[in-house]
Amino acid sequence: MNTALSKESVLGALSAIRDPDLGKDIVTLGFVKDVKVADGTVAVTIELTTPACPVKDSMRADARKALLALPGVRDAQVTMTAQVRPSRLENKARLAPGVRNIVPIASGKGGVGKSTVSANIALALAKLGARVGLMDADVYGPSLPTILGATTAPGQDGDRFVPVVRYGVKLLSMGFFIPPGEAVVWRGPMLHKTMEQFLGQTDWGELDYLLVDLPPGTGDVQLSLCQMMPLTGAAVVSTPQDVALTVAEKAVIMFGKLRTPVLGIIENMSGFACGKCGNHEDVFGVGGAERYAKAKGLPFLGAIPLATAIRETSDAGTPIVEAAPDSPGGRAFTAVAKALAAQVSIAALAGPRDGKPEPAEVSRPAPGSLAIKWSDGHASQYTARELRLACRCALCVEEMSGRALLRAESVPALLDVRGVQPTGRYALHIAFSDGHQTGIYTFDRLRELCPCPECRKKAPAR
Ligand code: ADP
Repeated sequence: MNTALSKESVLGALSAIRDPDLGKDIVTLGFVKDVKVADGTVAVTIELTTPACPVKDSMRADARKALLALPGVRDAQVTMTAQVRPSRLENKARLAPGVRNIVPIASGKGGVGKSTVSANIALALAKLGARVGLMDADVYGPSLPTILGATTAPGQDGDRFVPVVRYGVKLLSMGFFIPPGEAVVWRGPMLHKTMEQFLGQTDWGELDYLLVDLPPGTGDVQLSLCQMMPLTGAAVVSTPQDVALTVAEKAVIMFGKLRTPVLGIIENMSGFACGKCGNHEDVFGVGGAERYAKAKGLPFLGAIPLATAIRETSDAGTPIVEAAPDSPGGRAFTAVAKALAAQVSIAALAGPRDGKPEPAEVSRPAPGSLAIKWSDGHASQYTARELRLACRCALCVEEMSGRALLRAESVPALLDVRGVQPTGRYALHIAFSDGHQTGIYTFDRLRELCPCPECRKKAPAR
């Protein structure tokens, strides 16, 4: 009987097991490593894409069962490991090069518990074995040092920050640098500079996930971050009631415009169970975020109850995932962390999700021209001058009225492209030989501007 047992038959048995999130079997996904067959004993290692995999235990059990069902197998040992895959998006900016996935946590408005959720998810992922960083980009109301009970400031190594480590999570926050009673009153460029420092001049080291606690709303910090480097995707936190969801939708729309995928919606403050009498009350309602997510075709990552213990543990500097991991709140956060990690794996493996074409190759075939080969095979060739004239930056178009400020006769006839830089996952930043260098051209706009006859026919008015 033993002669029938081979590496191939082991892989054959394991190919019946699917990863429900990635939608393929674990052999095709390359998860099965180190197959050893000896004397009726089979040992395999299954390498998942995250240590926080929600189906880790059931997958191990299914694999054991499948192996034990093979003729000649008396014992089956299944070891589960994980290797978080880096996002397939190219990080040309080379900021935070050791960080595999950057995941902003956003909300439409303040007070919905975004920071509390960010902190607890970070801790849950670290407890599950991931390498996690938490960047507090909520510059106006940085609360993560308090929530994580971090009292010492980050270290400094030359001009680089060394994050504070709390509960296994690397933390950097504006809160460490603002004296008590002071407030940050900054314009966009200062915020941009700070985000650049936080990402690029910080020793994040090797991280599986860098969660970024964004300020509420859709402002400068969000834009800066999405422009600076490709983000794996964002999670949006909302309370369940319709008004909150209407505001949360603005964050969803913003990420859509910046081509940053929304990895899912988290419902916080979902129903209240009284700690004393057990009575259940839906203070802000319940289930609204899940319904919203379903209607928009977005993943729902889970619901966190409204619970006094969540607030108290955050106020005390030991979030509930650390203080009481088996409480309803602690368990809810861990489940959300696993669901988020699963979505990160999906996004990291799949690359761009909206299916829209992106530049695959940008070149300058001749002086005065720019060529783009698109991911869908289309090719565009522009003259530098027509791109320059189509610039919609604030120097070329009046922002409020849309009135053109650029005069065609002021643009030299012989113009060249000096430099092209990717801007996040949604645009190219183009600098020209006349010194103009503030033009950001979204991929959609560049497709609209494609001068080939086929595209001109489709979009005659530009
Ligand atoms: P945001 O970052 O959205 O402004 P915070 O995380 O600072 O919100 O939360 C606002 C307040 O609500 C804090 O006092 C926090 O402890 C509390 N809070 C957040 N989530 C919950 C929850 N699920 N149950 C109870 N209190 C919560």
